[in-house]
Amino acid sequence: MPDLLLWDLDETLVTTAGAGERSIVRSAHKHWSVDVDLSLIPYAGCTDRRIGHLIRRHFGIGDNESILRAYLDDFVNFVSEELSQSDARILPGVSGIVEAVHISPDHEQGLLTGNLRAAAEAKLVPFGLWDYFSFGAFADDAIERLDLGPIALARASEYCASTFVREAVTVIGDTPHDIACARAIGARSLAVASGRFTMDQLAECEPTFLVDSLEEPAVLSFLSL
Ligand SMILES: [Mg+2]
Repeated sequence: MPDLLLWDLDETLVTTAGAGERSIVRSAHKHWSVDVDLSLIPYAGCTDRRIGHLIRRHFGIGDNESILRAYLDDFVNFVSEELSQSDARILPGVSGIVEAVHISPDHEQGLLTGNLRAAAEAKLVPFGLWDYFSFGAFADDAIERLDLGPIALARASEYCASTFVREAVTVIGDTPHDIACARAIGARSLAVASGRFTMDQLAECEPTFLVDSLEEPAVLSFLSL
């Protein structure tokens, strides 16, 4: 019975060094004619679709599915543009872990991310990471991150033609949303303080394991690698 790792993307696998945020601001300006100050909107860990709704509501703009769709499409286009001009980078420890999982006969890995699939691809291809993930759950699948866990598990079972006992599933992420996501499916959580949440803030959410960097050697033993 293999172990399954489900990875968050932003500030866990890579940091876009603000490219993702700039893309949100540009697309919101284009489609809703607003100047977004993201420090006023608690978007970390939310799906790309939920972030669109948070912005819309922040400015008292009514729900319009076609405008939201256009906002999301341009957001993805802007991500590719902005990434090429940013200091985006893969985070410490990530390369070694994804490669170790890749070559392990006892492990599988997929994505559990609030990114749209196209945005995830745009963010991971430049770092050679996209091909490590054959399955995943994305913002295309659900608007709320908590709903993505069961979808990711189902995709993993289908792709791997295997069932995963919940104790052998680990969700890796940098926000309280990732820890909640793990808890909701009975999985373990590996929280990493590589994003905007501190060790203390993440500790309050009681993850199974908490590190300040995936470079910490204890991560490999926690993941049975
Ligand atoms: Mg994240």
